[in-house]
Amino acid sequence: MDKLQGIHHITAVAGDPVRNWSFYTQTLGERLVKKTVNFDDPGTYHFYYGDRQGSPGTILTFFPWTNMRQVPTGNRQVTATSYAVDQNSLDFWAARLKEEGVSVTPFTRLNQPGLTFADPDGMPVEVVGMEQAPGLPYWEQSPVPQEHRLRGFHSATVTVPGSTRDNSVALLTDVFGMTIVGEEGNRTRFAFQGDTPDTGGLFDMVVDDHLRDNGLGAGIVHHIAFRAKDIDHEAQIRDAVRAFGLQTTDHVDRDYFMSVYFREPSGILYEIATDPPGFTRDEEADSLGMALKLPAQHEHLRTRLEKHLTPIPPED
Ligand code: ZN
Repeated sequence: MDKLQGIHHITAVAGDPVRNWSFYTQTLGERLVKKTVNFDDPGTYHFYYGDRQGSPGTILTFFPWTNMRQVPTGNRQVTATSYAVDQNSLDFWAARLKEEGVSVTPFTRLNQPGLTFADPDGMPVEVVGMEQAPGLPYWEQSPVPQEHRLRGFHSATVTVPGSTRDNSVALLTDVFGMTIVGEEGNRTRFAFQGDTPDTGGLFDMVVDDHLRDNGLGAGIVHHIAFRAKDIDHEAQIRDAVRAFGLQTTDHVDRDYFMSVYFREPSGILYEIATDPPGFTRDEEADSLGMALKLPAQHEHLRTRLEKHLTPIPPED
């Protein structure tokens, strides 16, 4: 079986949709590449943020529920979402975030400098300075200057208890084909594609026996998706995950990719998602994210939803 290609997307729960949109597009300078609804709850938005063309490995998605209560990050979850930036951009980001009233904590981890901060719902987000950050296409309307833009995911961090750690590791190494490329304290770093990871090519696992399980709420990652080349590759991965002893769904059509979901040994929800067809399936690259896109099964609700959903971008 071919290895997994890296992180495809990360999906989280948010509170107010306007505040979420404002932070990710206006403060962080990402592009809203798709404005659709939660397929299982079409009265709620589903936002996808990414680079100019919504490349796999840049996509952070949210289900914003206006009155959702905020929950602190807990065990058996994705506990940090990290973007790559150029190593010379960290001062820019520290200043920009402070200006926006976001408190920032610098760190050095496995010899890479970074900043950690929280989004408006308290979700931990990081930027990590890289010597050679991926050169992704720049969205010309971004308020962030091109040289400082986010360069897709550097990595994601999951936290697990010691009791299930070895099984969680075995899935990554034995099934996903990932290699261990670093260790520091209670953190192990994995790479999808060896020593020269591309966008979203790294993955960290931290062991913590004291962090509580806090469940879902605003500010919590719901699941993380990893890249399959196509549906055949996805089927191979699904079969390998089942052979490893885990139950999975079959292929689910998410309009912009095909997905398989399963809980990994510590209980974190993982997804395999195909690169094709991608976000230009129903919109031109130049106008991504402008129109409300509905899946075929909800198209009959359009008039009602357009009245009900808060306009994004917000009207003045
Ligand atoms: Zn997903």
